[in-house]
Amino acid sequence: MLKIGCHLSASGGYMRMAKEILSIGGNTFQFFTRNPRGGTAKPVDEADAAAFRTFAKENGIEIILAHAPYTLNGCSADPGIRDFAARTMADDLRRMEYVPGNLYNFHPGSHVGQGTEAGITMIAGMLNGILTEDLHTTVLLETMAGKGSEVGGSFEELREILDRVELKSKMGVCLDTCHVSDAGYDIIHDLDGVLTAFDRTVGLEKLKAVHINDSKNPPGARKDRHEKIGEGTLGTETILRVMRHEALRNLPFYLETPNELDGYGREIRMLKELY
Ligand code: FE
Ligand code: FE
Ligand code: ZN
Repeated sequence: MLKIGCHLSASGGYMRMAKEILSIGGNTFQFFTRNPRGGTAKPVDEADAAAFRTFAKENGIEIILAHAPYTLNGCSADPGIRDFAARTMADDLRRMEYVPGNLYNFHPGSHVGQGTEAGITMIAGMLNGILTEDLHTTVLLETMAGKGSEVGGSFEELREILDRVELKSKMGVCLDTCHVSDAGYDIIHDLDGVLTAFDRTVGLEKLKAVHINDSKNPPGARKDRHEKIGEGTLGTETILRVMRHEALRNLPFYLETPNELDGYGREIRMLKELY
């Protein structure tokens, strides 16, 4: 069964998001664990989380994806920012234990002049300080567009991070179609080739989720500007090829396109129909 949804506002809690995604034809959703620019999170509403666990089972919501704030940068040159990143992620993962068995995605980080190698070492070090055997969440590195000093714009960099994490079974990757295209991987003409390269470098078994976004920019632009499905350089056919690919088809797909709820609903209906 196709798992498709979109990014939703987390305000109002899990039950509100669950009802909202069903109302627009989806069966999974992504949300920010806290303000995307950082800051403290509201305390977990345990009754809401418990109600959601039951509701999700009854309504075919098999998995959800929490997204860390953008400001989380585990490889900043500023130790205060690195410390904030580690504390935020540890807190997010503790909170995710109220909805066990789901996914937590983060942007590996930007090394801001320290070099990719130093960045990778710090990111892996942060993860090793946070991950524990008893966690029930899989932590995903997002494939990045390679803008500025972003780490994770190549499959090799993701592999390097994963290689250095001790609790490997807790880790995975979220593939973002806009980001990989912007990073120079030609999923428009050679999706098979890109996935073969991913498999050789990282391993397809590490892929746990897909962000389906069109891109405002041509492949290799290193920009990271999402576009509505069918209105960008990837096009609807490329997005459908991703969704139908045998290596990806069982993964959950999340729209992060520039839309309000009604626009997301239209894209979900369109993609389900074409799929
Ligand atoms: Fe992201
Ligand atoms: Fe994304
Ligand atoms: Zn993006």
